[in-house]
Amino acid sequence: MLTLRVPLSILPTMRKLTKDALEHLEIRTIEDLLYHIPSRYVDFSVFRNIFDTQIGETVCIIGTVVSMKNIFTRHGTKIQTAVISDESGGMEAVWFNQMYLTRVIVPRMKVALAGKIGLFNKKKVLESPEYEIIFPSDSLKSGTENDHLIHTGRLAPVYPVTAGITPRTMRNHIYKLLRNPTIVIKDPIPEEIKKQYQLVDEEKAVHHIHFPDSYDEAKISRRRLAFDELFYIQINSEFKRKEREQETTPFAFQLEPYRPQITDFIKKLPFTLTGSQQKTIDEIFSDLKNTYPMNRILVGDVGSGKTIVALIASLLTHLNGYQTILMAPTEILATQHYDTFRHLLPKKITIKLVTGKQKPNGTAHIWIGTHALLTTKLALKKIGIIIIDEQQRFGVEQRAKLIKLSTNPNLLTMTATPIPRTVAISLFGDLDVSFLTEQPKNRKTIKTWVVPSAKREAAYKWITSQITKSPANSKEERQPQAFIICPFIEESESLQTVKAAKNEFKRLQSSYFSNLRLGMLHGRMKSDEKNKVLTDFKNGEYDILVATPVVEVGIDIPTATIILIEGSDRFGLAQLHQLRGRVGRSNRASFCLLFTESESPEVMKRLKLLETIHNGPLLAEADLKLRGPGELFGTRQHGSWGLKIAKFSDFELIRETREAARWITDDRNAWLINLYLREKLKKYTIRVSSSE
Ligand code: ADP
Ligand code: MG
Repeated sequence: MLTLRVPLSILPTMRKLTKDALEHLEIRTIEDLLYHIPSRYVDFSVFRNIFDTQIGETVCIIGTVVSMKNIFTRHGTKIQTAVISDESGGMEAVWFNQMYLTRVIVPRMKVALAGKIGLFNKKKVLESPEYEIIFPSDSLKSGTENDHLIHTGRLAPVYPVTAGITPRTMRNHIYKLLRNPTIVIKDPIPEEIKKQYQLVDEEKAVHHIHFPDSYDEAKISRRRLAFDELFYIQINSEFKRKEREQETTPFAFQLEPYRPQITDFIKKLPFTLTGSQQKTIDEIFSDLKNTYPMNRILVGDVGSGKTIVALIASLLTHLNGYQTILMAPTEILATQHYDTFRHLLPKKITIKLVTGKQKPNGTAHIWIGTHALLTTKLALKKIGIIIIDEQQRFGVEQRAKLIKLSTNPNLLTMTATPIPRTVAISLFGDLDVSFLTEQPKNRKTIKTWVVPSAKREAAYKWITSQITKSPANSKEERQPQAFIICPFIEESESLQTVKAAKNEFKRLQSSYFSNLRLGMLHGRMKSDEKNKVLTDFKNGEYDILVATPVVEVGIDIPTATIILIEGSDRFGLAQLHQLRGRVGRSNRASFCLLFTESESPEVMKRLKLLETIHNGPLLAEADLKLRGPGELFGTRQHGSWGLKIAKFSDFELIRETREAARWITDDRNAWLINLYLREKLKKYTIRVSSSE
């Protein structure tokens, strides 16, 4: 019998290419592959006789291959056409540029073909159908591919894509695993819990999530697997909370002696704290006074003012004689925090910046940096608090490594991910959660418009007029500035994305904005170049900053009041909201223009949500609703929180799993004896916990 933790390399049938592609998806063991669940299904379950097929419908036909050939067109396209027949008649199937098919599909084979019926050269054809070989002709040696239909004639699973592996390969491998009699899935969930929450058996759920007979079956299976995921997270949280309360820090901070100093500091800030900032600070202070370490996550929409909360926490830490470490995901952001801290905190507090190339010597009271903090030798003596900004941007290992810089440190993580309160509180049972629910008072709503391509020119003119109109009376007022965000072409800052930004920069500078000063920022620039551009922009030396989406995270330039986002349909709503949050950071009117070339009504509807909704969590919820039940499974957003199957919107399931987790953990023995369950638990640690 094989355990599920066996690496995939023991499977002789898997090619290296496939293995590498899977590795890229972090699929390394049999278990990883079995639990790599489809993102959706295509419905190929309708069987038809060839004679009965109608144009426009998606069907599966079973027939015999009469002929198969390549046709080369004058334009260089290679077309593959097969003639296939059943008792009712014959028809053609057509593929494009898939030369290898003529070697795979050959005359006299019995095949299933599934796809859309369309018109090609005025004939009814099957368009680029998915195929499956049922019986090869007698002259062929190879056996049948599978003993069931897995690509056609059913709901066929489609997996999140990656280069180097097709849904077809993925299906084949998963199918093989499911048919392998030596692989056994033992269900660790006690019968009574399964009964209480109406869960199907785990083995069944794993089979049916990949190859369901109906959408209902897929749904039931997904519920079971999502239940597991949430359940294990919650059990872990329960235990961790108990453990943490038993840990002791070598220090419990004092507040009372320093209260006047802190009150005075807050009074002198250039703004008044919002009620939720004040409340959060109180919560943090009370954690810091405890003898066990703080583990708090601060959830606050973009612009809600998380930085000042972190700063005040580090001030109390300093007053108690301890050091602070603050880690931010990008150099730009770290530098910005560094500037803010130096600007606001008393001069006698030493603050040092740690980045890829800036490795300071000597000691400091506060260290602010990127992940370079992890690899730089620092004179760390007494770390009182570790703060992680935009925590979802860091990997599990990076966070764990940072935390290890000290023993049982106080931990404050911050995020703008819109997690509903109820979800955060129950899912992160081992964390304390603070929410910044208010925006600072002076904020104005950012006027947002979706701009179709016909209005592009008018929009450029409008931006010019905004920038060049003379500033208002007050001496401090500067001319407004604008961001122009280029679409991202790939997830990471690819060369292509950079090229697009460069071209856009040239185009705009030499046409619409030839009288304005344009700057340019992209992720492939050297860090000093980046910092210089940002500083110059901040100082008003540019009117417009053309940038790739690197400006997404946290940067704060209050005089920038206009943001134009190109190709906005390529971004998620949460990401657009983050980007929009780059403006509207002062009391001036601010604007967000969402450009799109798309004319699809769905895209417009989705983007238009941003015109009316200005609150991150509400936006996330509306986005989820709009995507509707078609979106059966989780998205990347949840992925960064360690959820692969469950979603934040699974409110009921989150409640049920919490209840079940309490039930199990109340009676220690019940779970302790179940070793297999413990084994499972290791995998499902929520990714922000301190004890990883
Ligand atoms: P985020 O929560 O997105 O990290 P920041 O901490 O960068 O937000 O704060 C955004 C801007 O709001 C900064 O310029 C900051 O100085 C300012 N700010 C923070 N708190 C307040 C407040 N209570 N009133 C007015 N402005 C504030
Ligand atoms: Mg921030």
